[in-house]
Amino acid sequence: MSRQKDDLDLIEENEIEDTTENNSEDTHEEKKEQKNEENEYEEICFLCRRPESKAGKMISLPNDIHICSDCMQKAFDSMNNASFPYSDLLNSSNIQMMNLSDLSDLTNQIPKRQKVKKKKPKEEEKKEPNFDLHSIPAPHKIKASLDHYVIGQEHAKKVISVAVYNHYKRVATGTQDEIEIEKSNMLMIGPTGSGKTYLVKTLAKLLDVPLAIADATSLTEAGYIGDDIESVVSKLLAAADNDVEKAERGIIFIDEIDKIAKKKNTNQRDVSGEAVQQGMLKLLEGAEIEVPVGATSKNAMVPMVTVNTKNILFICGGAFPGLEDIIKERLNKQAAIGFRADLKDKYDNDPNILEKVTLDDIRTFGMIPEFIGRLPIVFTLQGLTKEMLVKILKEPKNAILKQYQKLLALDEVKLEFDDEALAAIAEKALERKTGARALRAIIEEFMLDIMYEIPKDDNIGRVVITRDYIEHTGGPVITMRGVPALEG
Ligand code: ADP
Repeated sequence: MSRQKDDLDLIEENEIEDTTENNSEDTHEEKKEQKNEENEYEEICFLCRRPESKAGKMISLPNDIHICSDCMQKAFDSMNNASFPYSDLLNSSNIQMMNLSDLSDLTNQIPKRQKVKKKKPKEEEKKEPNFDLHSIPAPHKIKASLDHYVIGQEHAKKVISVAVYNHYKRVATGTQDEIEIEKSNMLMIGPTGSGKTYLVKTLAKLLDVPLAIADATSLTEAGYIGDDIESVVSKLLAAADNDVEKAERGIIFIDEIDKIAKKKNTNQRDVSGEAVQQGMLKLLEGAEIEVPVGATSKNAMVPMVTVNTKNILFICGGAFPGLEDIIKERLNKQAAIGFRADLKDKYDNDPNILEKVTLDDIRTFGMIPEFIGRLPIVFTLQGLTKEMLVKILKEPKNAILKQYQKLLALDEVKLEFDDEALAAIAEKALERKTGARALRAIIEEFMLDIMYEIPKDDNIGRVVITRDYIEHTGGPVITMRGVPALEG
């Protein structure tokens, strides 16, 4: 009997335990919910009442009291500066320490409407790399992707696709056995506005690798006014969000490389020309470079990291003004002493003279042989023709015309350009001699009026830009809504 009672007691005890467990689970759930709800709101400093987003990280005290670091500091400061010793004060019997639990009621008194809701963290834009570096697509696929953005420049796109393919294959395999694959640094020669920077930018985006664009004109030998050469690597590190590994697979594009040609007839030290070329040698080849994190200059306060440039792809670009004359002179000289002497001025009007460039020409221009030697792939871009400019206006994925059409489509207005208008824009751009860069400036000039006037009248349904409008001899053709568009 007594044993039975014992058993019963045990069962009851267990049941009681179970219910308490359930209870505690319930309250636990509730607390969790409450906590979640509270989590949506920013913590507020108990003293200055500023929310976390303004005052910075809070120091949490028991009973849900939060104090910002400013207030905490002020409290410490006032304690330190007080003219009377606090310890004496605390020891005296009629002073009581503040009880934090009393304060918790106060914090709970802050109504929800006075709390600041936390900003939702922006959803990370899902950026899918178009290509995976470890299974880098074949050159023809890289070129096909470039074709969506870059018009013409077939040769340049082909060369760059093969070079990048080889470079990243070398990086991905990482093996450096006796057959060492040479680094595919490149030298790109082409007139201004022909798409040099654009080509590299597009490539970096497609490969999802960090890209740093530096201007050779700002570079000087270390210690002189200007950026020192290693600053290009810190730029790349910044582009890679300070991720050294990512930076080490990146691309550095150095524009206006022709500006660091050896200065001719100078007796002074050439700190922004030849010395910069010399300084770049080890960078191009691959070296461990100590760079400041988050700054472009070294100083005692900035942490430093080491970046290895062995796998960084360097692409140098420049317009090399005057190079054509050097090529012509060489060709003419060759022609004159050749077996079948050509006409002396045969090359004077050759539009593709740049394609005939040799390393000797580049050396004559003022680049030192060691520097050229580290850029084994040399290719040229063509000056843009009228037809190419027209294509640039309308064909690339993010063509300027498509951008304006989209803007006006939001007002439900159809924007069209007739072929003659496009030709007129291209002709105007050619006159400016700044390549495709002139296109946007020209379009913006006349689109300003369109963008200003059209939204005034809701009845406008279609606008056609004509050559007359571009040449300021007429206006655009405007069609009202509901009126069928005239064909032809
Ligand atoms: P640069 O050769 O002087 O570096 P950019 O690459 O900066 O010239 O070209 C300026 C702009 O012109 C680019 O942003 C791009 O929009 C446009 N552009 C130039 N060339 C082309 C091209 N071949 N195809 C498409 N757009 C081009």
